Amino acid sequence: MISVHEAVSQILETVGPLAGERVSLFEASGRVLAEAIPSDREVPPFDNSAMDGYAVRWQDIRQAGADTPAELSVLEVIQAGAVPDKTVAPGTASKIMTGAVLPPGADTVIRVEDTHETDGRVLIQKSNELGANVRAKGEDIHPGQLILEKGRVLRPADIGLLASVGRSFVLVRQRPRVAILSTGDELVEADGTLRPGQIVNSNAYTLAAAVQDAGGLPVPLEIARDSLDETRSALQEAVRHDVVLSTGGVSVGDFDFVKAAMDELGMQRLFWQVAQRPGKPLTFGLLKERLYFGLPGNPVSALVCFYLYVRPSLRRMLGHTRLFPPVVSATVSEDIPIARNLTEFVRCQLSRHDGQYAVRSTGTQSSGVLSSLSLGHGLIIGPREQTLLSKGTEVRVIVLDGDAFANEEAPF
Ligand code: AMP
Ligand code: MG
Repeated sequence: MISVHEAVSQILETVGPLAGERVSLFEASGRVLAEAIPSDREVPPFDNSAMDGYAVRWQDIRQAGADTPAELSVLEVIQAGAVPDKTVAPGTASKIMTGAVLPPGADTVIRVEDTHETDGRVLIQKSNELGANVRAKGEDIHPGQLILEKGRVLRPADIGLLASVGRSFVLVRQRPRVAILSTGDELVEADGTLRPGQIVNSNAYTLAAAVQDAGGLPVPLEIARDSLDETRSALQEAVRHDVVLSTGGVSVGDFDFVKAAMDELGMQRLFWQVAQRPGKPLTFGLLKERLYFGLPGNPVSALVCFYLYVRPSLRRMLGHTRLFPPVVSATVSEDIPIARNLTEFVRCQLSRHDGQYAVRSTGTQSSGVLSSLSLGHGLIIGPREQTLLSKGTEVRVIVLDGDAFANEEAPF
């Protein structure tokens, strides 16, 4: 049985970023750039005013003050989007709006609050520095500048930069298509009627959500019943996708056919069983470059294995380099017994007081009890060699709930 660390290393060795695809900017947020973006232009494209005011020659207004205003004749009003007609000559000014083109001859803008206009003449009642309130052509971006590097995870401001250099489409890493295959004679879909002995195929819904949350494209397949034939043909269909997640059928029961089906399909089986709880029966295989995760059937085990192994793999395919969830250090609030010789991932609740985290177990750690994961914020990493996480000691906690520390009150 391999360790958790060996399992994740073996898996990630087989995974690389997918090819690029061109997407519209409206679809690009959160995606990873597969090209470097140089600018072919200047932003802003022309000198323009940062204020509503008067475009002037600094020489004309440098001595201006409340008691010694400079008086200038007004040539025109320049609106944003318009092109000025007149050159600002000594003794003149043009009224200008924010974002409008600075007229030739002018070098400075005096804001409207420091002026008084009557009968085509304006009194400038306050001086300012040379170039005040002028946004220079190219001050944000100059031609040839690399504005975003390949590998960049695009955020809203980046999308705006792309738009401002005229890119309405960009090359980003493809999203992996992830087949979700549930195995089990006992399974019924969420809208079905349960007959005696049956349960809802909740794993398919959980995993579809988890895949989507990780940035992949979930493709739920029909439930495969517990026979070697049906498991094999379902797997054969499933491996047409970039990644396959199956649940169930990987234990040592009489009706667990996944491993045999993998072998019959000629899949390379890298490992079966990891020294962890929950999720010990995990198996991982490859068919050419397609990844196959045989997740355990128990709902908690399946989702924990998703977070530990599948999510980092999907993130690498998506082009991310930060593959793993954040980890914080926290103080244990009450004794938590853990399994000897297995790395135990304890579902837990985190709280924060004065910048320090405290952590407690969510209660039952049965791998069938999904509500324990639903209630929790993350997973304590219970070291393999320990049997108890004693009250007061420090542990490392994988944070899974990104909203756990969002603020209820406005912090500003
Ligand atoms: P197995 O690994 O197939 O022996 O399944 C282990 C446990 O997980 C059993 O209690 C199954 O009923 C349950 N299980 C298997 N597949 C699913 C599924 N798709 N949704 C919910 N529970 C499941
Ligand atoms: Mg089963």
